[in-house]
Amino acid sequence: MTYTVKEIYYTLQGEGARTGKPAVLLRFAGCNLWSGREQHRADAICRFCDTEFVGSDGPGGGKFETAAELADAVAAKWPVDDRSARRYVVCTGGEPLLQLDTAAIDGLHAAEFEIAVESNGTIEAPAGIDWLCISPKGCAPVSQRCGNELKLVFPQPEREAQPDQFDDLDFDYFFLQPLDDADLEANTRAAVKFCLRHPQWQLSLQTHKILGID
Ligand code: SF4
Repeated sequence: MTYTVKEIYYTLQGEGARTGKPAVLLRFAGCNLWSGREQHRADAICRFCDTEFVGSDGPGGGKFETAAELADAVAAKWPVDDRSARRYVVCTGGEPLLQLDTAAIDGLHAAEFEIAVESNGTIEAPAGIDWLCISPKGCAPVSQRCGNELKLVFPQPEREAQPDQFDDLDFDYFFLQPLDDADLEANTRAAVKFCLRHPQWQLSLQTHKILGID
């Protein structure tokens, strides 16, 4: 298959349990919960997206005809000759599981990458992913009900994704991440309060935004 990728770059993981970990970020184009076009946002299932995932025109982006080409493009971003740590790639989007198939997973493993995925949970994950983060959005049904971390943007509207819907799912970590809108400060206070009352949940901050890095 042809993989359409918005951007590929080397950075620090900004959110969740692996915050601060050096990673190649592989952002696939396209999402099944919003077109990415502002004129469709109000009617989308997910309406608070802060990510540009349309097209393939970002740094390192493009269309890759094979899994090997994709893996080569990812490997090219990892610091040359540094074998002090296992190579690490975070597959995100958009919704990465629209495109990340077994061939791509095998290709990234062959290039010696540990593979993390950040998905909205609406598509069951293929085998072989090493670190799976699910971030439920709006009222979209969650099909992938196990993984390493569940990261919930908080708060979401009353009839949409709420923490107690996910308490019993099979994840190692449960994170609340304050919704980054005009009320970020109040959202952060609400998330802190919720975590203090429900210690199953931990606070996740978007450190890349705080630090002003991509
Ligand atoms: S599911 Fe994720 S990528 Fe898709 S629109 Fe929502 S926040 Fe953006």
